[in-house]
Amino acid sequence: MGTKGREIVKMDVKEVVGLLNKALADEWLAVYQYWAGAKVAVGRMRGIVAKELEEHADEEKEHADKLVERIMQLGGTPILDPENWKKMANCVYDAPEDFDTRALLKQNIKGEQCAIAVYNKLLGIVEGKDPITAHLVLEILKDEVKHEEDLEAMLEDMKSKVE
Ligand code: FE
Ligand code: FE
Ligand code: MG
Repeated sequence: MGTKGREIVKMDVKEVVGLLNKALADEWLAVYQYWAGAKVAVGRMRGIVAKELEEHADEEKEHADKLVERIMQLGGTPILDPENWKKMANCVYDAPEDFDTRALLKQNIKGEQCAIAVYNKLLGIVEGKDPITAHLVLEILKDEVKHEEDLEAMLEDMKSKVE
């Protein structure tokens, strides 16, 4: 990163990189959880739910891309070994066990709720200290809020339909 670009970060750059890497671990686990869920989904509205889960997997991957871009800009190194994903993540990886679409939706809603809490906390840490990271975190937070809403709406739709 450029000299001035680094100068405007009013907190320990290494600390920012560490926080971004933890979020990166979460994103990779989220990509995989959605991707796996889309593959095994069975039951009501299977096609629609699987498509939404796939879409979210892609969006979590975009989050990973954005986080890595900022990590590199700050002179850091992104996590390179998947072994560190579970070790460093803020949220748990919840392997799909019940393949029913409703169970998958509930499971991923929990994941989104963890993501929202993590990014909201992260925003509080970098706000006013690292504007570029704060902007990035806010962008991702907006997506996670939308993800939760999408999945909750889908679950709600299923309730209102006849068995
Ligand atoms: Fe995400
Ligand atoms: Fe998400
Ligand atoms: Mg969506």
